[in-house]
Amino acid sequence: MAFEGLSDRLQETIQKIKGKGKVTEQDVKEMSREVRLALLEADVNFKVVKDFVKRIRERAIGQEVMESLTPGQQVIKVVKEELTELMGGDESKIAVAKKPPTVIMMVGLQGAGKTTTTGKLANLLRKSYNRKPLLAAADVYRPAAIDQLETIGKQLDFPVHSQGTEADPVDIAKQAVEQAKEDHQDYVIIDTAGRLHIDGELMGELGRVKEAVNPDEIFLVVDAMTGQDAVNVAESFDEQLDISGVLLTKLDGDTRGGAALSIKAVTGKPIKFVGMGEKLDELEVFHPERMASRILG
Ligand code: GDP
Repeated sequence: MAFEGLSDRLQETIQKIKGKGKVTEQDVKEMSREVRLALLEADVNFKVVKDFVKRIRERAIGQEVMESLTPGQQVIKVVKEELTELMGGDESKIAVAKKPPTVIMMVGLQGAGKTTTTGKLANLLRKSYNRKPLLAAADVYRPAAIDQLETIGKQLDFPVHSQGTEADPVDIAKQAVEQAKEDHQDYVIIDTAGRLHIDGELMGELGRVKEAVNPDEIFLVVDAMTGQDAVNVAESFDEQLDISGVLLTKLDGDTRGGAALSIKAVTGKPIKFVGMGEKLDELEVFHPERMASRILG
């Protein structure tokens, strides 16, 4: 399960304070120390942990007495609220262009799950929002990425715009938008090229695609299992492209949770969807509050 390790540690910590009829400063101090260790062990960004623990400590000590909750329960409420805030607070919606089609650009490094997630997102848009997406195969570098997207398109019955591996990604993106207009598709999801590492050439190309189609959303796909690397990747992509949100894949295999808990605080950009498996229906809207409840048990 996602976040298993972190969840166990935090549940153990809050269990100790839960039933307390009186919470002393010493209790709060001890709990803060344990929360700090649990988060560091989960590979959460160091500075994020520091700020988080400072906030819960201040709030837990300064709690007003509430009739309905025991002091122990109040402290847990503070932890839950702060954990929710850390992951993005209110869940965020997906953009809708005033004039269709809404253009979504998918960016990310090779292997993060970009092509699969492009299909998953289209699937979710149709299922949950009743939208008609067209997929655009602009990843002309990874061998088989175009075939993979076409296979996904066939499997799910979505149109795929592709022009082979020789075409210019900017041209592919532009023509895909035109095709969507003609065919009355209301979303275009562009699977752009990834590389193994961030480099100037990649960013230059993505910048040109962005300029050409003026996307309503730029979603960065990152692999949750890479922890702080995912956070660094998110920071770089955001600096260069001003992304609008993060799609965090492979959360099903992430027992630690470091990326999920750091990305919003470090980049300021929300996690919008999470991948929970390889299948094309295993993409979920990210609900920070539900996730916080799940972690705290
Ligand atoms: P790309 O190079 O970024 O386009 O990556 P792909 O879309 O080809 O995905 C790389 C691998 O990650 C594939 O084997 C996918 O099935 C797998 N994958 C993608 N998302 C998830 C996820 O949420 N959970 C799991 N377990 N595997 C995933």
